Amino acid sequence: MTRQLNVVPFVSVDNMMKLVLSVGVERFLAELADTVEEDFRRWAIFDKTPRVASHSDEGVIELMPTSDGTTYGFKYVNGHPKNTRDGRQTVTAFGVLADVGNGYPMLLTEMTILTALRTAATSAMAAKHLARPDSRVMALIGNGAQAEFQALAFKAILGVDRLRLYDIDPDASAKCRRNLAGFGFDIVTCGSVAEVVESADIVTTVTADKQNATILTDNLVGAGLHINAVGGDCPGKTELHADILRRSDIFVEYPPQTRIEGEIQQLAPDHPVTELWQVITGEVAGRRDASAITLFDSVGFAIEDFSALRYVRAKLAGTGFFEDLDLLADPDEPRDLFGMLLRAAAPAKGLVPA
Ligand code: NAD
Repeated sequence: MTRQLNVVPFVSVDNMMKLVLSVGVERFLAELADTVEEDFRRWAIFDKTPRVASHSDEGVIELMPTSDGTTYGFKYVNGHPKNTRDGRQTVTAFGVLADVGNGYPMLLTEMTILTALRTAATSAMAAKHLARPDSRVMALIGNGAQAEFQALAFKAILGVDRLRLYDIDPDASAKCRRNLAGFGFDIVTCGSVAEVVESADIVTTVTADKQNATILTDNLVGAGLHINAVGGDCPGKTELHADILRRSDIFVEYPPQTRIEGEIQQLAPDHPVTELWQVITGEVAGRRDASAITLFDSVGFAIEDFSALRYVRAKLAGTGFFEDLDLLADPDEPRDLFGMLLRAAAPAKGLVPA
C-alpha cells in the first residue's frame, strides 16, 4: 500500500504569497471571480447552511462548510476588530477541501490572504452584474487589510481606475495609497465621508467596528450608485443607515445567513431582497435602470470559499508552492491503528510491553 495516502498538500502563508505573485494579483482575482461565478451558476446543487458562529464580546469565530456532492470544503475564520491594536489581523482564516467519496482531505491551506482575495473577487463579480457599466470611480471607505484587494479586483474586473480613499485613521489611507501606487490608479485621499463619495460611481464600505455604525448616511447616496457593503457581517455589526436600504435594490448571497448578519438585519424579516445567483443565471434582472441604487449586502458565504479552495488546488498543480503534510494516520493494515502506534514506540524501551 502506498504511503502517499497520508499526505495532504498544505499551503502556508509564504507559499500562498508565492502562488498569488506567480499568477499575478489581478489575473488571480479575475480567474477567482470567474470560479466564484461558475459556482454561483450551479447554486442549487450545493449544501447550504448559515455559518456556525461563536460570538464573544470582542469578536466572532465561524465555521463555514459546504459541498457540491463531490467535494466538501470548510473555512475557519475569525473577526476581531480590536485585534489590530495588538498587532494582530482583524480577520484570519484557514480551510480544507475534501473528497466526498472517501472523506479524505485533499488540501489544507491558509485562507487569510485567500479570504481577502475571494471577498474582493466576489464583490467585483457582483458589481459587474449590478453597477452601471460605465462605472470608473470607486470610493473606498475603510482602508485596512481588505482594501487594496478590493481596489485591484474592481480594476481587473470592471476597469475602475479612479480611487477615492477615506479612513478614520489617516495612516491606513496613506498605507493603502502607497501600496497601490504602482497599479495605474488615479488616487485621491479624502478627509470625510461626504468628500469621498463625491463623483463616485461605486462606494465600497469595508470598515471594522463591532457596532451598528453609520458609515454612510442616506443624504450622501445619489441616484445610480452601486454600494458594495462588505464590513457589516455579524449580528449588531452594520455600516449603512437603514434609510439607504429602503431606497436600494438589495442583492444578497444566502438570505438565511444575511438576514442575521448583513445590513438587512436592520429591516423587517420579509423585506424583499434578490439572491445574487439568480441575477447571474439570468433568472432575475439585476440593475433596473441607470438611476437605480443597487446594494450588494456582502457577508461572505461558504460557496465563495469553496470556489477559492478549488481554484487554489487547480493552480497548485505543477508548482512547488506547497508542502506534503503528514496529517492522516495510514497503517499498512487499515484496522491496525493501534499496532502502528506500538511499532512507532518500539525503539523507546519501557513503552511497549515485552
Ligand atoms: P482592518 O481592521 O484591517 O481594517 C478596517 C479599517 O476600517 C481600519 O483601517 C479602520 O481604521 C477603519 N474604520 C473603522 N471604523 C471606520 C469608520 N467609521 N470610518 C472609516 N473607517 C473606519 O479590517 P479588514 O480585514 O480590512 O476588514 C474590514 C471589514 O470587512 C471587517 O469588518 C471584516 O469583518 C469585514 N470582512 C467582510 C468579508 C465579507 O465577505 N463580507 C470578508 C472579510 C472581511
